[in-house]
Amino acid sequence: MASVAKTISEVSHGTRLTDSHGRVIHDLRVSVTDRCNYKCVYCRDGENGSNYPELSNEEYLRLVGIFVSLGVTKVRLTGGEPLLRRGLLELVQELAAMRTLSGDPLELALTTNGHLLDRLAAPLKAAGLNRVTVSMDAVDAQTFERITRVPGSFKAVLGGVRTALKAGLTPLKINCVLLRGFNDGQIEGFARFAREEGVVVRFIEFMPLEEGRLWSPEIVVPLKEIVDRIGRVLPLRELEARDAGETARRYGFADGVGEIGIIAPVSQAFCGACSRVRLTSDGKIRTCLFSQIEHDLYGRLRAGASNEELRAYVWQTVQGKEARHHIGEPGFLKPSRSMVHIGG
Ligand code: SAM
Repeated sequence: MASVAKTISEVSHGTRLTDSHGRVIHDLRVSVTDRCNYKCVYCRDGENGSNYPELSNEEYLRLVGIFVSLGVTKVRLTGGEPLLRRGLLELVQELAAMRTLSGDPLELALTTNGHLLDRLAAPLKAAGLNRVTVSMDAVDAQTFERITRVPGSFKAVLGGVRTALKAGLTPLKINCVLLRGFNDGQIEGFARFAREEGVVVRFIEFMPLEEGRLWSPEIVVPLKEIVDRIGRVLPLRELEARDAGETARRYGFADGVGEIGIIAPVSQAFCGACSRVRLTSDGKIRTCLFSQIEHDLYGRLRAGASNEELRAYVWQTVQGKEARHHIGEPGFLKPSRSMVHIGG
């Protein structure tokens, strides 16, 4: 590990985080809790409790600050359900005060199931959050609540989405994970929903990251099928990617009203353009959703590491970022943590 000894003196505030495959890492996802108030059937095994501890706001802020000093410009808070986290508004306020290496505010986003958004959208905006992504897996109340296993959830989330739009947490994206036989009947309804509500709906292929054992190649609804089906009722045209790291393929409706996106990590993986790392609620770095190992950044903080030592550890960890995932290949191993405990 000669390179590690070298990096402790060489990795300084201002070194741009780049992995050994030449990918620039500027996007950090931070899970602030692995608790959730939903028990989505494709994610949880029926429980909604936590498996891992949470850090204090001060600890998250110090760790995020280390990444920002290495060139991270975008931070997305997630979970579990981040709106359950006590002190979230204060955390957002402090993050909004941070500056990137170029002196700009961070791009600050949050992914939520939207259940508590009606109450929190305006305070989050006031605290400095730029935008939210809301997860919705159906546009009819019955299917929605069969998936979340929480009565009244559809009304709560729809209200949250509308309040967030009014509060200016935009562009507001809706993420929908499609599973054949569960909610693939919702595709056309979601296309209409995007146009009527003024939101960008993004369909996401289901990945083997559930607590149970549901995933199979057959349950994944691939990009091509989604585009073909929407195109039959509402003609689409593909839009140009805004940047090389964009995960979603974007489509506009032919009449110019509305947009949808498709995130296809299974059928059309985008690992080559990945610019992300993740920090779990208990302060472990994950360099890929499918990593088999985690890196205990928080353990080093607790042991008294200096910012220089933490920076060197982050740098060294990112050097080992996986070239790509191996979903569907022989020998593929599911990671030990499921999506809700990693931070989606
Ligand atoms: N509670 C928040 C929410 O609902 O958005 C944040 C955490 S949740 C784990 C983040 C996203 O991961 C949700 O959109 C959820 O649908 C998605 N997700 C969960 N399991 C998944 C899987 N196996 N494959 C793809 N997406 C998944």
